[in-house]
Amino acid sequence: MSPRSQNLAARPPGFVYRETKRGILRRGGLFVLYCEDVPLQKLAEHYGTPLYVYSATMIRERYDAFDAAFRDLPHTICYSVKANSNLTILRLLARKGCGFDVVSGGELERVLSADRKAAKKVVFSGVGKTREELTAALKAGIMLFNVESESELWALAECAGRLRKTAPLALRVNPDVAAETHPYISTGLHKHKFGVPIREARALYAKGSGARYLAVRGVSVHIGSQITDVAPFGEAMARVADLVGELRGDGHRIDYIDAGGGLGIAYEKPNALEFSADVAAYARALAAPLRGLDVRLLLEPGRSIVGPAGVLVTSVVYRKKNDGKRFLVVDGAMNDLIRPALYGAYHEIIPVTQRADSAVKSEVTDIVGPVCETGDFFARDRELPVVDEGDRLAVLDAGAYGMVLASNYNTRPRPAEVLVTGKTAKVIRKREKVSDLLRGEM
Ligand SMILES: *Cc1c(COP(=O)(O)O)cnc(C)c1O
Repeated sequence: MSPRSQNLAARPPGFVYRETKRGILRRGGLFVLYCEDVPLQKLAEHYGTPLYVYSATMIRERYDAFDAAFRDLPHTICYSVKANSNLTILRLLARKGCGFDVVSGGELERVLSADRKAAKKVVFSGVGKTREELTAALKAGIMLFNVESESELWALAECAGRLRKTAPLALRVNPDVAAETHPYISTGLHKHKFGVPIREARALYAKGSGARYLAVRGVSVHIGSQITDVAPFGEAMARVADLVGELRGDGHRIDYIDAGGGLGIAYEKPNALEFSADVAAYARALAAPLRGLDVRLLLEPGRSIVGPAGVLVTSVVYRKKNDGKRFLVVDGAMNDLIRPALYGAYHEIIPVTQRADSAVKSEVTDIVGPVCETGDFFARDRELPVVDEGDRLAVLDAGAYGMVLASNYNTRPRPAEVLVTGKTAKVIRKREKVSDLLRGEM
């Protein structure tokens, strides 16, 4: 099986195979998987596995590509913190002028501790914001509250009144637009818990604008995640644009349209299209209905910024065969990366080093973790070059919804995270120890 070097060549400078002639066998060298200028094998040896590795350059480049695609519109990118909330990554984005979309008081604290000045570019989303969380966000002076129900509207009015501080708000409307994605991450239909029905929005805006410490400023929408067809984004935006016209007619001030996040990435075909082409198509779909509307567009990408910029490196613990069915048992598991177990998600998996000669055989195997759940797998019936016990594999596109969803199930300490910039690798989160897990228990 040929190495995926062509695949990966389309993804510089993040993760690429480089051929080394210093192979063990004189007749063939090795393909060695690098993150920027650092071999993943070295990182695995030094920091252990399972290990999350991110490319800082790739995160910056994806942010820049996203930003460039919207250059013709006044816009602010509010990176969705829940996709990957590591402080160093938030700081890296804040330095580029990025804002943030938070969905909890905890995420707000992360943003503030990464960069206190970023507060004025924070939007706060989520169906269940508590009064404590609303109060903390008011004190921090965030840009916009995305309110998702009438009850929340009154809770916000109450908190703002108590602080005598005006709360800038948008209603998150539910546009009733279907988007092709996994049912767990589709959010834009009336049957979903998110937002207020777009038909009821006008009445709620009227109520909100009557409150002393509430200031209507925008309309917000988010139809789901991992959406690869841009048409539903355009459809939702068209409905929002109509609503903005009506609201302005009603006398409301609308400065912002928040388009949410959700742009998908190509998990199955990592080399399918350049990101800049994908994001340009997305930008065109959003921009078309906004023509002539004088608004600032807020964007909340998460996955599309960090997803392809991270991998999970894991080691093969055992090879195993049950009645002819092959398993690679690896040291990473569903507690480290839950996407395959939770969504049946596909992740490309490739060896961290691979012999460069064509004699390497491939096999069809499951790649499973040690957790006591049948759902604990990274891949099923996957064709992979034959690897040995002790070899390392890289699970690609693990930068988003990877570490943030990691748990301690089976009392497994969570992995370390390393950020690579050029030749430099830096631990940005230490590997957890079992003693960390036991602290706090009686
Ligand atoms: C999850 C979420 C996002 C980010 O979605 P991605 O698919 O990662 O881009 C943005 N906005 C809101 C309100 C979200 O819930």
